[in-house]
Amino acid sequence: MARYTGPKCKLCRREGTKLFLKGDRCHSDRCSIEKRNYPPGEQGRSRYSRRSNYRVQLREKQKLRRTYQVLERQFRNYFKRAERMKGVTGENLLRLLECRLDNMVFRMGFAPSRANARQLILHNHFIVNGKKVNIPSYQVQTGDRISPREKSKNLLVIEESLKSYGSRGTVPYISVDVTKKEGTFVELPTRDLIPVAIEENLIVELYSK
Ligand code: SF4
Repeated sequence: MARYTGPKCKLCRREGTKLFLKGDRCHSDRCSIEKRNYPPGEQGRSRYSRRSNYRVQLREKQKLRRTYQVLERQFRNYFKRAERMKGVTGENLLRLLECRLDNMVFRMGFAPSRANARQLILHNHFIVNGKKVNIPSYQVQTGDRISPREKSKNLLVIEESLKSYGSRGTVPYISVDVTKKEGTFVELPTRDLIPVAIEENLIVELYSK
């Protein structure tokens, strides 16, 4: 499937916030947005001032979509699914995105970014409940156990990433046994537990027009 392959830091600068797309660099002083917190392009510095309601809603949607590295059509489908589910649509949307396998692999510390997690999954390095899964969008269920395949456990990228597990921030709905290199999705998170600084109600408003 097609995906965005351009400069990732530009996406953060466009949204005016850190989207954490580049692993450890995002947590260091090499983060581009620390140095240049204005949109890319020649007109970049003046753009933040022109903000209509629609524009604010649109940017919020792009922020969330880019955080989870999901394409437009796929994002729409997540939204439609979230609408059909019981409960609050915005919270459902975030939960669906959180339950993606690439996000879980990232949150469990097996990869420094969601993009890296996606690559590793596509290259058959992960198993869910003992079975090989190579679909980054695979929806993980509560109780599922995720780990690298036996032959992939010593991959440098996984070992290095696990070393900084914790320093990138952990979430209470996932437990990780770093020694065994295995993570478990413990329970569906409530909105307040999902560490994504998004006003999802703006996205619901945008799609309700
Ligand atoms: Fe965004 Fe990370 Fe680049 Fe900083 S280093 S601008 S958080 S992708």
